[in-house]
Amino acid sequence: MRRMTAATCVCVALMTVSNGHAASANHDRADAQALDLAKQAIALRSVRGPGNQVPQVAALFKSALVAGGFNEADVTITPVDDTAFLIARWKGQDPKLKPLVISGHMDVVEAKPADWERDPFTPVIENGLLYGRGSSDMKLDDALAVSALIELRREGYKPRRDIVLALSGDEETTMTTTGQLAKELSNAEMVLNVDGTGGQLDPAGKPQYFTWSGAEKTYADFELTVTSPGGHSSRPYDPNAINQLAAALVRIGQYKFKPELSELTRAYFTAAARYESPEVGAAMRAFAADPAAPKAIAVLQANPATIGKIGTTCVATMINGGHALNALPQRATANINCRIFPGHPRAQIMEELQHVAADPAVHFRDVSQGSVATDASPIRPDVVDAITRAIHLGYPGVAVFPTMSAGASDSMWFRNEHIPSYGVSPLFIKDSDRFAHGLNERIPVGDVRPSMTYMVSLFTDLSK
Ligand SMILES: [Zn+2]
Repeated sequence: MRRMTAATCVCVALMTVSNGHAASANHDRADAQALDLAKQAIALRSVRGPGNQVPQVAALFKSALVAGGFNEADVTITPVDDTAFLIARWKGQDPKLKPLVISGHMDVVEAKPADWERDPFTPVIENGLLYGRGSSDMKLDDALAVSALIELRREGYKPRRDIVLALSGDEETTMTTTGQLAKELSNAEMVLNVDGTGGQLDPAGKPQYFTWSGAEKTYADFELTVTSPGGHSSRPYDPNAINQLAAALVRIGQYKFKPELSELTRAYFTAAARYESPEVGAAMRAFAADPAAPKAIAVLQANPATIGKIGTTCVATMINGGHALNALPQRATANINCRIFPGHPRAQIMEELQHVAADPAVHFRDVSQGSVATDASPIRPDVVDAITRAIHLGYPGVAVFPTMSAGASDSMWFRNEHIPSYGVSPLFIKDSDRFAHGLNERIPVGDVRPSMTYMVSLFTDLSK
């Protein structure tokens, strides 16, 4: 009862602010279903390895979709190793139009119950927050998408183009299922990935801004190896494999890749500057105007939150060498992890690093796994308008702008198939509640209602 009263209040407030906009109509049944499905999905331990319950998550969503009007044959679950992927197709009225793909993932990062305050696989709502592994990344988003599609069917909506829900089963690990999904759906008009980015709440819980992602940096790992004949440590000689590798690592550590600006990051810096400290904000504006501005570059490179947005970064992450305390090393290896600015193949960055290492004895090998290089997706006006409109239904007047994600998501595989892909999760969260992949992961329950309104609006606008 108390919850219903609270919901009514939100509704009245919303209608007042948005002048009773038609699309902010109630989706109470869908809201309730989304929360219920999210809780059921969180209770399933869909973690890579023995006992992986991704197939059960897929079965849960399939049964909801079929009960909600999808043809049984149009919802397929394909097992892959210990996981699975799901494709649900809603046929549009115009078969000539390419499908709108809504993408998400059903797997979650491992969570050790002993480290958590609450059991990670028992969903709990406390103080307006839904706790559990996958609550923010991304079982609530999945549940919202499933429930929004069911709601649209219930309301009698008829899409012009096919709407395809594509849920992968190993986004957090090898992304094998995503690669298969992207190939199978390579004729898509675009992909809306309801994972990642989203809205920012200030410490008091007031919505500040919303970002959607149109690009991701390319993940790469390069293994550096130096070998030497070795010998007794009482009889040292040059070169020494460890010293050679160390010298190369120091040179790479001091190297800065040329700063870059894209259409997307220019839009980001211009809009995001006002939410930063005066110094960082000024640097963002200056960099957006001139990506060669030295002072701006120095400020943005000194800040871990911004250095990745102005170019490629590479950093040493692992080192290994020698075989005995009293022997000269025969082998030394290191891993350099790179986050590559969109538009550069991995091989080009490896070549640049080889040049910086400046020692032919250091052998480079691209050991990247589960990553493909992708370009930025275009800033399409239809997408920008649809996202902005959908957000403003729930959060009137909030700034909406694009960003480039630092990490890799399923979008990478779709972009690799040349399908424009956008990260568009509607969830708003405070910095102090951001625990995706971490302990005590949670998401505000108050997000459900505006997120449902958003998805219903967004999916309609881009499929009608
Ligand atoms: Zn995710």
